Amino acid sequence: MAILSTASRQGAQPRTIVALSVPTCYYSRMKLCTGCKTEKSLDEFFRRRLGKDGRKAECKLCCRKRRQAFAAGEPFTIKAGPPLTSCEKSRQYRARRTANDPLWYVKRSQKYRETDPKRMWAWHAAARTRRRAIKYGVPSGISSDFLYSIAGDTCPVFGMPLAYSTMSGPMGARPDSPSVDRIRPELGYVPGNVAVISVKANFIKGNATAAEIRLVAEWLDKQ
Ligand SMILES: [Zn+2]
Repeated sequence: MAILSTASRQGAQPRTIVALSVPTCYYSRMKLCTGCKTEKSLDEFFRRRLGKDGRKAECKLCCRKRRQAFAAGEPFTIKAGPPLTSCEKSRQYRARRTANDPLWYVKRSQKYRETDPKRMWAWHAAARTRRRAIKYGVPSGISSDFLYSIAGDTCPVFGMPLAYSTMSGPMGARPDSPSVDRIRPELGYVPGNVAVISVKANFIKGNATAAEIRLVAEWLDKQ
């Protein structure tokens, strides 16, 4: 009663009282080991005062294995447990390579950009089409291989060489950067409805039809 009246006088919310005593079922509680991914009772885990439940994340057995591996100078790997997903595998691969060479990713990109810049562009452009399809709610279904196959060296509208090897300019894409155009925007990114044209041509076209662009050209002629 005393606590409640203090809280109301200060205008604050009455505090909930947290039970600090150890529950009777403490040692019978189960916990999942992050190492061997098996459920064990809490007393199978070493104490860790700062831990959420006062115990370590790995079981005693895994901790011992880790300690022995460390003493022997070997890397500690988890043998048991569910198989890794491809996402986890690639994360481990990236971590391993980054440990050896922090710039490996930059170097790899550089290598691909130098040997086949169009391939590099197709990878990124295909990923962009998937994101844009979600954003604009249109169908998507083109692979980077398909983009690579239809991407020409020159813009089919202006005939200028497309800059696959250069990254975007200071203000974003350059006028001669390649871009993926949806011929009829509402049909989405599907084979037959996409063309690789320059950013300049794509910008002029926008979502306009041929008749509309002709009207703009006629108006420009009269100025
Ligand atoms: Zn374990």
